Amino acid sequence: MYDLIIIGAGPAGLSASIYAKRAMLNTLLIEKNYMGGGQIVNTYEVDNYPGLPSINGFDLGLKMSEHADKFEIEKVCTDVISLDVTGDVKKVTTDEGTFEAKALIIATGNSPSKLNVDGEERLTGMGVSYCATCDGAFFKNKITAVVGGGDVAFEDALFLSRGCEKVYLIHRRDEFRAQAVLREELFRADNIEVITDNVVEEINGHDKVESITIKNVKSGESKTLDVNGVFIAVGNTPNAECIPDEIETDEKGYVIADETCVTNVKGVFAAGDIRRKKLRQVVTAVADGANAVYSAEEYLRGQ
Ligand code: NAP
Repeated sequence: MYDLIIIGAGPAGLSASIYAKRAMLNTLLIEKNYMGGGQIVNTYEVDNYPGLPSINGFDLGLKMSEHADKFEIEKVCTDVISLDVTGDVKKVTTDEGTFEAKALIIATGNSPSKLNVDGEERLTGMGVSYCATCDGAFFKNKITAVVGGGDVAFEDALFLSRGCEKVYLIHRRDEFRAQAVLREELFRADNIEVITDNVVEEINGHDKVESITIKNVKSGESKTLDVNGVFIAVGNTPNAECIPDEIETDEKGYVIADETCVTNVKGVFAAGDIRRKKLRQVVTAVADGANAVYSAEEYLRGQ
């Protein structure tokens, strides 16, 4: 039996692993992907993590994994199927068997949301992508569209503009969530055309993306844009498949816990992007990892 099981090896789970090992807790880290680091490894550049200006997201994820490895964290690479949190012993059932611990930190993060329009699913991997840094290179000198008005959409459009002939940024409103610094840079780029007040109605093409149909939400007018690729950046959905009903979540599925990371279930803590919070950043995720271990230690001492 472990003192602590941490589920997820993104910035929150890796930070929790480092703090747990330093607190000498007998800890197991469970991660579904071979490479840890979480969503950050798909980010081209991270420029707001203190002390590491302009670091490539992949490098930052790798550095965090290596840091946890330095403490010889015990790891299992497998999918979590279900959690039993009803008793003092928390049970984590995976493809590799069931693991038990006195406390549990859920740091499963979130994944890109879908647009849910015609053609999206059928053409995923054939021009539809959720990761510009992963797939952008396939669209060198081509025309692409990015959908969304947040930081990720702006970062993706800027990244693609460096290699693509032209990039459309399509947003459903005429105001953007993206940070001012990104907005300024994007509006300076001469091969990015911003189309506001428009939604994507359909992604068209036989065995690859050929065009998208967009609709102006104010005039109701539809038109077709010829594009070779569509990058969807419309926010995230929590990775909450394994979270049982006993753990309180909000209507979107994010686990309810404050900055102590304590959930409504004794001995269960939520850290990083899976926790209901206002600001999802690497820096807030790693802070959660530390706080969750602090709270877990307090809980274990009281047992
Ligand atoms: P986000 O900030 O939630 O933005 C999602 C965007 O997609 C919004 O503009 C939203 O429009 C739009 N949208 C949502 N559903 C849509 C739909 N069905 N159809 C069309 N448009 C839709 O998400 P994000 O950009 O993925 O960023 C996620 C988090 O990571 C944020 O907290 C962000 O600040 C953070 N992040 C930070 C950095 C950084 O600091 N460097 C980099 C990347 C991400 P509305 O605005 O109309 O709702």
